[in-house]
Amino acid sequence: MSLALTGREQSFQRRVRAFADKHLKPLAAKIEAEEYFPRDFLRALGRKRFLGAPFSRSDGGLGLGWVCETIVAEEISAVSAAAEMARLASAALYSAPLAYFGNSVQKKQFLRPVLSGEKIGALALTEPQAGSDAGSIKTRARRNGRDFVLNGEKRFINQRGRRGLSLPFRCHRPHQTCSVRA
Ligand SMILES: Cc1cc2nc3c(=O)[nH]c(=O)nc-3n(C[C@H](O)[C@H](O)[C@H](O)COP(=O)(O)OP(=O)(O)OC[C@H]3O[C@@H](n4cnc5c(N)ncnc54)[C@H](O)[C@@H]3O)c2cc1C
Repeated sequence: MSLALTGREQSFQRRVRAFADKHLKPLAAKIEAEEYFPRDFLRALGRKRFLGAPFSRSDGGLGLGWVCETIVAEEISAVSAAAEMARLASAALYSAPLAYFGNSVQKKQFLRPVLSGEKIGALALTEPQAGSDAGSIKTRARRNGRDFVLNGEKRFINQRGRRGLSLPFRCHRPHQTCSVRA
């Protein structure tokens, strides 16, 4: 099995690297020194569809697969690891469950605005007693008419305070083993 990048992947890598050099490098020191959140840079990534490399074009992605997502992660984090954390939480952690398991209405409302960079996504999985062991999460969802009422506690959630969209992981049935797929 060859782990070398294909010609198409190398060309994609050059595009992302040039983009990061031009648009992120000038911000990198400010991000570290001032805890500056690169909101406009995320919008610019979205306009290029670099937030949705693995997801289908009809969902607002590029349909290039997870090797290209890894290329984006490498190239952005080579310039600013903090900016990559912000990109990754929105573009992969939040977006992948919706891309794989969401229906067309959910994708239109909750996935496309995040992949376009218009909104920021957050994945709320970790709880005080459950991190690596995601099956131990205690947050519960109770149906209330057309809505769900969620009860539980989350921690360490990247960009939760940014007035974007968040995807909280929870169990429907207490006393049963929870499996979380993402
Ligand atoms: C910068 C940052 C951003 C984060 N952003 C988010 C976010 O956006 N959303 C979110 O949901 N969470 C987020 N987290 C939380 C992160 O995902 C959790 O910290 C992680 O899942 C580990 O959980 P924990 O801290 O409870 O550690 P634990 O799960 O308690 O693990 C502690 C240690 O034990 C080891 N360990 C655990 N289980 C086993 C095992 N079975 N066998 C051997 N060793 C084991 C681990 O490797 C680790 O070294 C973030 C964390 C950080 C630091």
